[in-house]
Amino acid sequence: MDKNFPLKGFGSAAIHSGHQQDPNYAHQTPIYASSTFVFDTAQQGMKRFAGEEEGYIYSRWGNPTFTEAEQRIAALETFGLNLKAKGILHASGMAAISTLFLSTLRQGDKVLSHFSLYGGTDEILTKLFPDLGIEALIVDLRQLDKVEDVIRNDKSIRMMYLETPANPTIQCVDIQELTKIAKTYNLKIACDNTFATPYIQQPFKYGVDFVVHSTTKFLNGHGTAIGGILLGADLEFMKTKATKVQRLLGGNSNSFDAFLLTQGIKTLELRMERHCDNALEVANFLEQHQAVSKVNYAGLPSHPDHKVAMKQMKKGGGMLSFELKKGLNGGIDFMNKLQMCVRTVSLGTVDTLLCHPASMTHFGVPKEQREKYGITDGLIRMNVGIENSEDIIADLDQALK
Ligand code: PLP
Repeated sequence: MDKNFPLKGFGSAAIHSGHQQDPNYAHQTPIYASSTFVFDTAQQGMKRFAGEEEGYIYSRWGNPTFTEAEQRIAALETFGLNLKAKGILHASGMAAISTLFLSTLRQGDKVLSHFSLYGGTDEILTKLFPDLGIEALIVDLRQLDKVEDVIRNDKSIRMMYLETPANPTIQCVDIQELTKIAKTYNLKIACDNTFATPYIQQPFKYGVDFVVHSTTKFLNGHGTAIGGILLGADLEFMKTKATKVQRLLGGNSNSFDAFLLTQGIKTLELRMERHCDNALEVANFLEQHQAVSKVNYAGLPSHPDHKVAMKQMKKGGGMLSFELKKGLNGGIDFMNKLQMCVRTVSLGTVDTLLCHPASMTHFGVPKEQREKYGITDGLIRMNVGIENSEDIIADLDQALK
């Protein structure tokens, strides 16, 4: 594609952005399975190391297959916005989040975040940070007055970290209002956009500094590779400090996983439309079902954060959770009866995936602690896939009987 061609649609950008003509005219950017790149001359090597000539050096530092994914995701996260972002592809979502924290925080700093977060991120904040002299303050970020009070009274807070919608209760926080507060007090603000994807929600629109993704999920879409990306709107910071930290920590991607990601993203718009439509149908079905006591779906008016969700999200997303009246045994029984839908812990794939946190991911966590985070015995988390909705509903219906 001519790089000056003005793409009007997100779906076109998901297919064409970031793609460069391969020197051998391959239609798809090849899987550059090469750890290192050669120099024509010593002088060329010198120039590349000095940053005076564009080009690859060593795959921990960058690789043409990563570049396409990085530029494509950056283009989608800023699609239709008057700004640019730079992305750095990582081996996993956790690697991207580690680069974010280690390039922005130092000993004595504090991070303000919410109690409903992906478990790995929560563990970095609460278990790893204390050893590094960094403290996490966990508050309900939906209470904006309280957030401002906490920040006003603590000059060591450097960053606000959001995840919206969040695991597993699908709680949503107000990106626009929280960004306003962060900017007033000169804090950096980052948002994990894994559950929504840039098709549904663009945190950069509200002025956040960083967006992170577990690309393992909806961006890849098919469950074929682990990956992550850190994106930043401060291009200079991304090219210098963030790049340095990523290169030194070594959480780089690999070309095979980057290739799978690049192919997966091409259908993001179509997939997300179907994920969202199916999820709304499933949520409505579950809300009417007598075996279910509660449905958490951002697209349902009954969800406590529905208003905030609809302000910042195009649709309700593909993730929901629900509570079974019959608790732990009801959850185990339901999971065992599933016939088409898949029992597993990940999300964002074309097939419908369900997990029962109390008997799986949070089995070892004491009940009182789990329940503080909304993980009740009967809670089921569901990635609503893009199969035909009647099949998803039929499987749920027979398993709920
Ligand atoms: N952020 C969210 C919202 C997640 O759900 C996950 C994983 O499930 C991660 C980050 C971590 O990503 P990864 O497993 O790719 O390291």
